[in-house]
Amino acid sequence: MATIPLPPAPGADDHVSLALVNSTVSLPGGRRADELGSPEEATDWLLGHGLVPERTALLAHCQNQLTGLRESLRVVFAAHVEGDVPDPRALDGVNRALTTVPSTPLLRHDPRHGLHRAPEHPVTQLVEHAMAQIAEDAATLLTGESAGLIAHCAAQPCSRFMLRTHARRHWCCTRCGDRVRAARAYARKQDRSPGARPARSGSTQGAVPEH
Ligand SMILES: [Zn+2]
Repeated sequence: MATIPLPPAPGADDHVSLALVNSTVSLPGGRRADELGSPEEATDWLLGHGLVPERTALLAHCQNQLTGLRESLRVVFAAHVEGDVPDPRALDGVNRALTTVPSTPLLRHDPRHGLHRAPEHPVTQLVEHAMAQIAEDAATLLTGESAGLIAHCAAQPCSRFMLRTHARRHWCCTRCGDRVRAARAYARKQDRSPGARPARSGSTQGAVPEH
């Protein structure tokens, strides 16, 4: 499974919508990890978050539905963080997941059972139900009191979202913070090396400890 080699970002344990948007991430070196890269991985992801019962097995169609919701949510979260107007198509995607709650078994007939009611495609329904829960979590988070805490990890190329649980939190995890600090230390060393241009005076960058 293409697991992401980072601990969950702050807030992602409590908000499954954050976990979903963070299920794909850019890693240093141009690599990309995707926890929903195949129907089997998407199944494992939903199972791991307790969103579908054991023995559920997604097909490619369901995997695509889930990655489609993830894309819509990423667009909406990014717009929220930037203070931009979200793309209406992305909002539509989230709203489709919110409102496609399968509740009505269809009326069917076969010679053995006669008229009876049965769900359309059980797996599709399970996935739609899971997606409705994720979209509900997103809608609640984006309009609730924690909405202002949603932030992007500031350590390029990490693209994870998180809840800024304290004011000076800039990174989704210590690994991202360490990477930025190491890059800054390297840049300072380069500045001090012979032939380098002198560092600008008055810079306070890095003077305040960050988390
Ligand atoms: Zn990060």
